[in-house]
Amino acid sequence: MNDLPHVLELLRQALGESAVLTGQAISPRHHSDWTGHAPQCPAALLLPGSTEQVASALRLCNAAGISVVPQGGMTGLAGGAVPRANDIALSLERLRGIEEIDSASATITVRAGTTLEQIQQAANEAGFLFPLDLGARGSCQIGGNIATNAGGNAVIRYGMTRDLVLGLEVVLADGRVLNLMNKMIKNNCGYDLKQCFIGSEGTLGVITRAVLKLAPQPAEQTTLLCALPDYASAVALLRKVQREVGTPQAYELMWQDFFRLGVSWLETPVAPMPDDYPLYVLFDTAAPREQLERCLEAAMAEGLVSDAIFANSHAQARALWKIREATGEFPIRMVPLNFDVSLPIGQIGDFADLCRQRLDQRWPGNHSVYFGHIGDSNLHLTVDCRSLPVPTPLLEVEELVYTAVGELGGSVSAEHGIGLLKREFLHHSVGPEALHAMRQLKDSFDPKGILNPGKIFESQPVYTGMAR
Ligand code: FAD
Repeated sequence: MNDLPHVLELLRQALGESAVLTGQAISPRHHSDWTGHAPQCPAALLLPGSTEQVASALRLCNAAGISVVPQGGMTGLAGGAVPRANDIALSLERLRGIEEIDSASATITVRAGTTLEQIQQAANEAGFLFPLDLGARGSCQIGGNIATNAGGNAVIRYGMTRDLVLGLEVVLADGRVLNLMNKMIKNNCGYDLKQCFIGSEGTLGVITRAVLKLAPQPAEQTTLLCALPDYASAVALLRKVQREVGTPQAYELMWQDFFRLGVSWLETPVAPMPDDYPLYVLFDTAAPREQLERCLEAAMAEGLVSDAIFANSHAQARALWKIREATGEFPIRMVPLNFDVSLPIGQIGDFADLCRQRLDQRWPGNHSVYFGHIGDSNLHLTVDCRSLPVPTPLLEVEELVYTAVGELGGSVSAEHGIGLLKREFLHHSVGPEALHAMRQLKDSFDPKGILNPGKIFESQPVYTGMAR
């Protein structure tokens, strides 16, 4: 870091004065991500406006052994974009814009700093759907979505971000530009290198451009709320719906405690149906109403569904979704400790029971709620820290939950990534051989370890001019 003033001077020459900020000129929003974890002003903030500038910046930092933290919209929920005092943050916000919509290929080509919402709007105006969707759509950038392999609301129908990326442009730590741009569905030319960078949380390369798949705009949606007798019925209903009317656009399961909480937080807290059923599922589908009604009648006759209501208007559909969107109120109404885990779909009910039982045994009277995108094998659970002893045994709660995830063969991160916050728990889901192979991959793309050190894995010493 002795070289820092000299390197900053070289960076100013390469990127321009206004693209290299230090000290108070760096907005606090670059100090931490959405989690607010360990905020820290980086040694400098770079704002490159082209792939060439990203390449120059990385080449200079790599040569000097200065670590670089790629930053997108800073909406991450794992601490992946949080810098340390000696890091240089590299924000992609000036590298934005739609380059092309190709209607024949049904693709959109974008720069990494483009927000998800801008891409959705551009696709919409061209008569397509870009199906990735999540609450942070207005701020998160597609580069961040790709780097975290984001999930969101429509994974059950369209897949994760990984399933929507056809091509990438990536700058490696030493400044080499990998052109992996591609519009073709079928392309088996050796290793599919782009997959390495999707979900790599800025540790293997900086994503600068992408080619994304577009989908046809869906027909009018119907929204339904069903009460269910047990978890097995939730899975059986999902498979029945998929068989008879097609895969829904969303399939959101709420355990009774979550449903009650969501209803109690409504402006007018009136439950759309009795609140004493064990589980509720809210789903959106583009299937014709008559076909759906027939499927549902049969499901009720089979005992899979205890009660159901259709939303008869857009306003009613919004009102039902408000219950599920209670999660947006968590930071205001409780002190939430949120978990984003995944398990084989058949095990999610058992996992929820096991977790609740162990939490209750350890901290009687604690309050936890369960909900999730179960069609994607994804369960969220939130423990209200106000119901735990003081000082809050955060690590112990996390260890309890992630141990149960590991025992049932699940993943400690369904969609938010590992970042800083889940590093210590990665071993519950990834064995030592796989971890070793991940480190080897990291070493081959970033031998000096300058890209986002300390994220995903325990911190490795950053290159200091000595061979490792
Ligand atoms: P950042 O937070 O800036 O960075 C995230 C990671 O990506 C960091 O490791 C960073 O180093 C790396 N990175 C960023 N840009 C690049 C780049 N161009 N090249 C290389 N690495 C890069 N996530 C979900 O998966 N599903 C959800 O449903 C969901 N809902 C959310 C709702 C809200 C209200 C909020 C605040 C967050 C939500 N998230 C969700 C989490 C978050 O929005 C996603 O992780 C998102 O993909 C992060 O994008 P970002 O641009 O903000 O990335």
